[in-house]
Formats: sequence, C-alpha cells, structure tokens
Amino acid sequence: MLDLTYELPKPKVISGAKHDWELVIGMEVHAQVSSNAKLFSGASTKFGAEPNSNVSFVDAAMPGMLPVINEYCVEQAVRTGLGLKAEINLWSAFDRKNYFYPDLPQGYQISQLYHPIVGEGEVLVEMGDGTARTVGIERIHMEQDAGKSIHDMDPNMSFVDLNRTGVCLMEIVSRPDIRGPEEAAAYIAKIRQILKYLGTCDGNMQNGNLRADVNVSICLPGQYEKYQASKDFSHLGTRCEIKNMNSMRFIQQAIEVEARRQIAIVEAGGEVDQETRLYDPDKGETRSMRSKEEAHDYRYFPDPDLLPLEIEQAWVDEIAATLPELPDAKKARFIADFGLSNYDASVLTADVASAAYFEAVAEGRNGKLAANWVINELFGRLKADEADIANSPVTPEQLGGIVELITAETISGKIAKDLFEIVYTEGGDPAQIVEERGMKQVTDTGAIEAALDQIIADNPAQVEKAKQNPKLAGWFVGQVMKATGGKANPKAVNQLVAQKLGS
Ligand code: ADP
Ligand code: MG
Repeated sequence: MLDLTYELPKPKVISGAKHDWELVIGMEVHAQVSSNAKLFSGASTKFGAEPNSNVSFVDAAMPGMLPVINEYCVEQAVRTGLGLKAEINLWSAFDRKNYFYPDLPQGYQISQLYHPIVGEGEVLVEMGDGTARTVGIERIHMEQDAGKSIHDMDPNMSFVDLNRTGVCLMEIVSRPDIRGPEEAAAYIAKIRQILKYLGTCDGNMQNGNLRADVNVSICLPGQYEKYQASKDFSHLGTRCEIKNMNSMRFIQQAIEVEARRQIAIVEAGGEVDQETRLYDPDKGETRSMRSKEEAHDYRYFPDPDLLPLEIEQAWVDEIAATLPELPDAKKARFIADFGLSNYDASVLTADVASAAYFEAVAEGRNGKLAANWVINELFGRLKADEADIANSPVTPEQLGGIVELITAETISGKIAKDLFEIVYTEGGDPAQIVEERGMKQVTDTGAIEAALDQIIADNPAQVEKAKQNPKLAGWFVGQVMKATGGKANPKAVNQLVAQKLGS
C-alpha cells in the first residue's frame, strides 16, 4: 500500500484584544446503529412512523419487563470499533444513568460508563489543502436513545413520542485533538464516511441519526503541545460543551462563536465556567443550558438487569474478516493503481457507490481519463439533474466505452462530449452510435488536407497575415474543424496547417 505522509493542518488562531488564541476541540458523536430493532427490545426503529407505534413494553418501561440485548447491535459496535482501528474490549458492562425526563419512561438510560465495548482508536482527518491530522478516539460505548418531547404542537400541552426510545446509539468520544472549525467538520465527515462504508450507521444528519456534542476550549500558543507531551489537561483551558449539533455548518459557526466568547471572558480577567451550552443559529450565539454545579448527579451504577457483555476474540476476528475496504485504503489504492491525484481519489472514494462506479469504468482502461469523465462530465451532469450515481442513466460499461473510443482516438474530445450527451439522454452502445451517426474522428490526412486547401484558396488575405504572424494559424485550425464537423483529429490538423503556412 502507498505510504501517504501528510503535513499537519495549522491550528485555527483567533486574535483577541490582547493575545492570539488557539482552539482545542473534542467531540462526542452519537451515531444511531443501523438496525431494524432496538438495543434491548424487538420494536422497530423505522424513521417517520406514526408516533408511539414502535414501542414495546420494554421501551415503555412497563413493570416487570426485562431488557434483552440485541446481538446485531453489538456486532455493529464491534464493526465500528474495528473500522476506527480501535481496541475491542471482550468484557464490557452496562450502567444505569439515572435522570427523570418525560420521554425517558425508565427513569434511567442504559449506557456504558465504566467499561465501554470499544477502547482507543484513531481517525485520519484530511483537509482540502492536502494536510491531515490523526485524531485520537478515546472510547466508543453503546447506549439507548431517549424519546422525543414535542412542545410546539399545542399551546397547552406537550406530547411525547416514544418511537426513538431504546434505539441503539454508539457514542464515539474523541480526544481533544481537533484544532479548528474546519477540522471539526472534516472530522465528522470522515467518521460519517467510515460508518457508511461499514454500514453501521446511515449517517443521515437531518434525521438526527448522526449528531454531536462539541467541546471547545481556548489556549495560548504552545500550551497544546505541552498537553500532548504530558497528557496533562491542566495545560488546556476550561471546556464548554455545545450540545446536540446536527449540521456541519452550525457546528463550525458554533465553535468560532464559542471560542470568541471564551476569549472575551479570559482577556477581561474572568474565568470560563465549565458548562453545557446550546447554539442558537438565529442569534449566532451560544447560551448556557446548565453549569457544572447544576450538573446532574446521574448516580451511575451497573444495571442489575443485564449481565456483563462477554464476547469472544474468534467472533471479533470473524467480523474483522468481513470489513470492507475502508476509505483510506481505497484512496491509496486508487492513487497507486490508477495514477489519480489526491484530490480526484478523495472525490471518487467519498462514498462506496461512486468508488465502485469509477472502478468499473477505469478497470483495464486509462484511469486518469476515466476519473476525469466520472468527476467532470458524469457527476456534473447528474448534479445538474439533481440525480444520484445510484440511478445514473449512463452505466459504467457505457462510460467505459466512451473512454475507450477517446483513448483509441476514434473520436475527438469534443465529439466525445456530444456522444456522452446522446448516451445520457437516449442510451445505447457508444461504439455503435459513433458508427451509425458518422462521428468518427477524421485522421485521414488526405481529407483534412483537402479541406485545408479549400480554406487556403478561399482566404488569400488571411494566408498572408498568418505567414507573418504564426499566431494566426489557429484561425485555420478552427476553420478546418468547422468544415469537418469537429471530427478532424486536432493533432493532424495542427501539423498540416504548420506545414502549409510555414509557421
Ligand atoms: P462528559 O461526559 O463530561 O461530556 P466525556 O468524557 O464524555 O465527558 O467527553 C469529554 C469530551 O471533551 C471529549 O471529547 C474530550 O476530548 C473533550 N475535552 C476534554 N477536555 C477538553 C478541553 N480542554 N478542550 C476541549 N475539549 C476537551
Ligand atoms: Mg458529554
């Protein structure tokens, strides 16, 4: 495999009134496990169902009901851990996190505080400019989601929908290794990409099946490096946690706004309170939800209804053997095997379907040319139609056929675009279309020469000018192309024009 070494991205620096400040960010990503059933009950997880229709007696916390672990959810958590190059804990346990809320009928959430199923891992986060940073994963644990309280449907009443209650979430906790708003967005995007490759989470942020709590602190330049060397958090500033973010854009805005708020406090001689805050995108500010002093005492304790979760290494190995090729490996392979640029390889590996499509076009053909056609022509055309690669009207075989015709110089680049449009709108076999509609490139120098001679004969004044100024030869090239309906081989035309005009 290709060894990709990167330069580190520069940390975001914000200038206060007195100092320059750097940002330090750690994220807790909540990812809903793609599973048809909930973590401890057989109720459906289908999104958008009639309120309270996906609720079993366990989810409604009826007296005497007992949770039964869903093995499929455990498998997805292990898969996710392996995909994030993390340690899998063969022994883990569930704890009760006690609090009262109307959409949590049990009066506690079952989570994994002391012994999570997944330990330390890492994610390579690449930035658009080619720099990249490895962000540490501290842990991943499984937990139940809560239900939904709805306060805006009636002026006098609140409603509770328990459909989401008990759905399995994975909480992926990062180290505070993220150094700016763009990096934070790139981190979430990468986590989302990996989970989607693994098939363990749909990653649909709008439906809330991927959301994040974002921890932000500020420090003076040099402090972060001291923290890194010692892992001593006292080198870092006090963090605030911005809860429940499910938009990349708002995450970036919230981080910057929150950092500026902290800078103003510290520069005025104050101290940042460790607290949980909410971002208000309309006002462009974060506001306090609860401070550390008011923080709930969750009285975590091991859930007596559930045995510790013991899994076998052999099962973990079995899961590991079924992991798909992940984005980093696929990208490195595309660069090595098809000679793609870092950028093209990133675009083409963004999702599994695009990567598979490209590979089918490129296999046994000119990889770079295939990449150009997939990215520039096909993606561009699909985007204009608001269509998806999954229902592309052009199949990889058809696009591959076009690429072959270009490589063989059967058609010119210009004609290829016309051909693509025909295949896109009408379908058909590219080679056959070229044959039937006379789109073949004219490489026969005799035919090109005849066209050129005619143009020279008709335009004596232009010929004189071009002989004195070789730059004007381009006009003749254009005329020949026009006369041949764009089918003349441009290389042959250029050569002949140069010959005849002595330029
Ligand atoms: P809590 O339950 O209090 O939210 P967690 O351990 O679940 O605590 O998560 C803490 C998160 O805060 C982690 O993602 C961690 O990287 C991040 N974090 C810790 N210290 C800082 C800091 N000084 N600045 C920014 N993020 C931090
Ligand atoms: Mg937290």
